[in-house]
Amino acid sequence: MNKDNPEVDNAPWWDAISRRELTFQSCIDCGRPVFFPRSRCPHCFSDRLEWRRSAGEGTVYAFTIVRRAPRGFQDRVPYCVALVDVNEGFRMMSNVIDCKPEDIHVGMSVAVDFEQRCEMLLPVFKPSSAGRN
Ligand SMILES: [Zn+2]
Repeated sequence: MNKDNPEVDNAPWWDAISRRELTFQSCIDCGRPVFFPRSRCPHCFSDRLEWRRSAGEGTVYAFTIVRRAPRGFQDRVPYCVALVDVNEGFRMMSNVIDCKPEDIHVGMSVAVDFEQRCEMLLPVFKPSSAGRN
């Protein structure tokens, strides 16, 4: 970690996003996943973390539908902000897109995709075929 710039720990994550890959850190000492990117494992405080690629599949843990958006997001309402449990064992906040708000539910199977917003590519989730029946 660069002490002058604590954000530097995020750089590999954003680099992977730009390649349309979802990554996470894994602790070499205790084996647990670490997300969001950090310089130390929050479970055992080891600084021996490695980057791994996620398959990008998971389930909705919790969600809310935003109907009154902050400035700059008004053209997006209604939209879904969700906590997604990714199968490799970490939870991340994102959006669920490409489905009606009323069709989103806890436990729903989702898969990562990437959406261009202004100059940034961001990870979002879509309903996955595994969840359709
Ligand atoms: Zn650890």
